[in-house]
Amino acid sequence: MTDAAARPEPDETATIASELIRFDTSNFGDGKSNGETEAAQYVAAKLEALGLAPQSFDAEPGRTSVVARVPGRDSSKPALVVHGHLDVVPADPAQWSVDPFGGEIRDGLLWGRGAVDMKNMDAMILTALGDVLAGGGQPERDLVIAFFADEENGGIYGSHFLVREHPELFAGATEAISEVGGYSIDVEGRRAYLLQTGEKALIWARLVATAPAAHGSRLVRDNAVTKLAKAVAAIGQLEWPVQLTDTTQELIGELGRMLGTDPEQVGPDEIVLRTGSAAGFILATLRTTTNPTVLSAGYKANVIPERAEARIDIRPLPGQEDDILAALHEVVGDEVELQITHRDIGLEHPFTGPLVDAMTASLGAHDPGVPVLPYLMPGGTDNKALSLLGITGYGFAPLRLPAELDFPGMFHGIDERVPVDALAFGRAVLADLLKTY
Ligand SMILES: [Zn+2]
Repeated sequence: MTDAAARPEPDETATIASELIRFDTSNFGDGKSNGETEAAQYVAAKLEALGLAPQSFDAEPGRTSVVARVPGRDSSKPALVVHGHLDVVPADPAQWSVDPFGGEIRDGLLWGRGAVDMKNMDAMILTALGDVLAGGGQPERDLVIAFFADEENGGIYGSHFLVREHPELFAGATEAISEVGGYSIDVEGRRAYLLQTGEKALIWARLVATAPAAHGSRLVRDNAVTKLAKAVAAIGQLEWPVQLTDTTQELIGELGRMLGTDPEQVGPDEIVLRTGSAAGFILATLRTTTNPTVLSAGYKANVIPERAEARIDIRPLPGQEDDILAALHEVVGDEVELQITHRDIGLEHPFTGPLVDAMTASLGAHDPGVPVLPYLMPGGTDNKALSLLGITGYGFAPLRLPAELDFPGMFHGIDERVPVDALAFGRAVLADLLKTY
């Protein structure tokens, strides 16, 4: 008998997440998107059903974000922003075992684009809030509930738009919680939770090489494709040194203790490689990464094009952006132009303080004795935009996951899926946090 058969009525969180997955909110980047409006109307209706008065904002037609304020018991405490994004990265159905926009619940798992990033947490926010408000209840402090558009392209038409045009929505808020933290990992048979206390910076750059166009049969030494290829290969082969920040230093120390290994004797990479599927995330937080991602040039085999372009995804450690760009300019040299198309800051917050204690306590109440570790996220979230308003954002979308599930690998991956039980767990942990913090 499958889990699904044993539990014909999944937690409401799974139902809501499934319904959200069925809105194809694919964000293709560069302003191209299917839009978030229908999903935004859906979450706005859910918030209204809870007695709230959500406001919707369109940065551009179709690019809708939703924000609602929830009054807390203690209005002297600063407000907490609880946010999720409504867009997803595109999915190629041919590569998936299920319809990526079907929202299928099978064998105790919810499948689909957004099941991991991050319609799961969007649904957890809604059901946890429902639990908090049930029977006339209130959260401890004021909440700003936000569902943003366009996170997957840097938040230009979502969080950055609202922070710039409507900062009053976040008045009185000093802290935030959102995605990519709070989930469990398996460290050689022992469960631990990763709480996200920082994010690397991000810079998306374009490399451009130009040269005279010519017939493909000529003797040509000044060739745009050749110049670009050389620069791309040089960047792609860079080995950035391991540099520990406060967060990764603490993480490595804690992992060393769990593993009974002295980090002074064993390198950080070796320790991180023992965290199973989480290593894929954590290894990238020990250094800068610079990955070529897009190549384009030419249109016919016998025409030398006058222009060749590549895209590079640069993820510097927080605060190192300018140093890394200077180094990259050296690497590509004078013959290739390096243009920045988008950049955003890195963040690093202490793994201490009342909010960290409250998140740790809420996890501990539902999974006693399991260690909670700080980590730096290699990607970016809408916390970057909120930081411009002085809001300290953490990644806390709590999920207790089976050891064998490669959860980090499913962000933007194929066959995104999350256990229905984990969603119910996250709902309960979040509700506890909002009631008590
Ligand atoms: Zn996300």
